Amino acid sequence: MGMQAVFDGHNDVLLRLWQHARGGADPVVEFLEGTDKGHIDAGRAKAGGLSGGLCAIYVPSGDLVLKTPDENGHYATPMAAPLDHLPSLATAMELADIAIKLDRAGAWRLCRSVGEIRAAMAVEVFAAVLHMEGCEAIGPDLAALETFHAAGLRSLGPVWSRHNVFGHGVPFAYPMSPDTGPGLTEAGFELVRACNRLGILIDLAHITEQGFWDVAKTTDQPLVASHSNAHALTPVARNLTDRQLDAIRESRGLVGLNYATTMLRPDGQENASTLLSDMVRHVDYLVERLGVDCVALGSDFDGATIPEEIADAAGNQKLVAALMDAGYGDAELAKICRENWLRVLGQAWHEPA
Ligand SMILES: [Zn+2]
Repeated sequence: MGMQAVFDGHNDVLLRLWQHARGGADPVVEFLEGTDKGHIDAGRAKAGGLSGGLCAIYVPSGDLVLKTPDENGHYATPMAAPLDHLPSLATAMELADIAIKLDRAGAWRLCRSVGEIRAAMAVEVFAAVLHMEGCEAIGPDLAALETFHAAGLRSLGPVWSRHNVFGHGVPFAYPMSPDTGPGLTEAGFELVRACNRLGILIDLAHITEQGFWDVAKTTDQPLVASHSNAHALTPVARNLTDRQLDAIRESRGLVGLNYATTMLRPDGQENASTLLSDMVRHVDYLVERLGVDCVALGSDFDGATIPEEIADAAGNQKLVAALMDAGYGDAELAKICRENWLRVLGQAWHEPA
């Protein structure tokens, strides 16, 4: 079986390294020498052909635990409380600091262009692109945006699944429509316009459906949901409706397949015994609706409970093999595994096609 190099749309490895660093671990050592914790380190990424991806600066909301489902399998986890700007900025700086330390140590390469991503992939050094998942750290006047951009930030989601000064996120709930509240605030519209100017990709994962449409009418970028699946198959609020998928197709954007079992299984449950066939079903649906040019991967490694058959980054090619068995050819797999991501990143970053 030929290995397909994967550039992946979402992981939380920085959060894991930050949490362990607070307990005294060295993030560079943990990434380079590996660990049995979590999903991504240099060795497991190489073994699974995970050549790079968008690495999130995410300020955690304490211990958000999914509500236990009721007798019908339904659940609605209450929305996490809003976060204050300054403590969020302090945490975000610490996560960015780890990303830069890994770059300086040669543990990975912090990439700012598609050329830099391809160069890192060619020498089998993990190609990291800095992403911010929820922009509490930026502040309503966007005061910290240029600084994070200068530090390498090239992608951001205005909100995580909580409310902030830029807009509103969707809760973790099943079954539920993503139309759960208002969209962007005035500061949110300003943030979108600033990202268009600076060349920072805007990510639509976690935002309300109204927020999705507000971004869609404002941005000049392709519409991208970095780690979301099809609502028609798994009706959690985090997944995308057919109307949203149609808008993504019209913009020639993309959807990155999220490996979170809650977003793959028809019953929306957190359960690691989820099958590869559930992943393939979502890819098939997305390809049917969007075309193969607009479907990619967004694993959520280190951020979610994923199918035990994948287990961690080392198991990533099992999904590729399952897609081959389902009839996808090399050219289609190259698009899904990396080329679609590199195309939309280049567009958002104002690079010539
Ligand atoms: Zn997420």
